[in-house]
Amino acid sequence: MNDAVRNLTMVRDRIADAAREAGRKPKDVALVAVSKTFGADEIRPVVEAGQRVFGENRVQEAQGKWPGLKDAYPDIELHLIGPLQSNKAREAVALFDVIETVDREKIAGALAAEIAKQGRRPRLYVQVNTGLEPQKAGIDPREAAAFVARCREVHGLEIEGLMCIPPVDENPGPHFGLLEKLAGEAGVEKLSMGMSGDYETAIAFGATSVRVGSAIFGSRAYPGA
Ligand SMILES: *Cc1c(COP(=O)(O)O)cnc(C)c1O
Repeated sequence: MNDAVRNLTMVRDRIADAAREAGRKPKDVALVAVSKTFGADEIRPVVEAGQRVFGENRVQEAQGKWPGLKDAYPDIELHLIGPLQSNKAREAVALFDVIETVDREKIAGALAAEIAKQGRRPRLYVQVNTGLEPQKAGIDPREAAAFVARCREVHGLEIEGLMCIPPVDENPGPHFGLLEKLAGEAGVEKLSMGMSGDYETAIAFGATSVRVGSAIFGSRAYPGA
């Protein structure tokens, strides 16, 4: 069996165990397999093993590998988990089924315009910069609920959930707890949080989806990618 397929089975088992341990149902935690930097040939066996939800962080990179796979497997659900520039809104709306990185007014406006134009409606999450890191995308946590409301009221966008990436050098638990609290304030249901190193913790804090890359596909040649 292919390494990534073996890893996938292990990650799924650990997700199910973490969910049960938290008194939750395994089916209530979705696995987003993060395939950035890996090519279609490396992704295909994971699709063939039954995984259907994938994450990519760059629009252009995703355009190079996903259209063919999506044609072959129409039930694939592709998530954009990296920063979105407003000049890429057209391509993002055309390719992605879920965009997890709405984090400012300009992007909300650009997405609303493209959704109206294309008649395609990706599900949307607002990214929150829970650690207030200057180099990181995401809205200030203190503005998250008001921003979700503006997305709805000003731009007519339905926001499904919140997403965060805790600072690498901190205990992630408090960040996950904060995101859960903000989702309650903003009136959204879904929580995208937890990566290879901390997805079990995220599940304990209520993650409804975890984004797992290297624990499935192996380490990336460009770790910063
Ligand atoms: C790369 C990436 C992941 C996956 O990271 P791993 O540590 O490899 O699991 C998750 N979320 C985002 C936003 C990413 O860019």
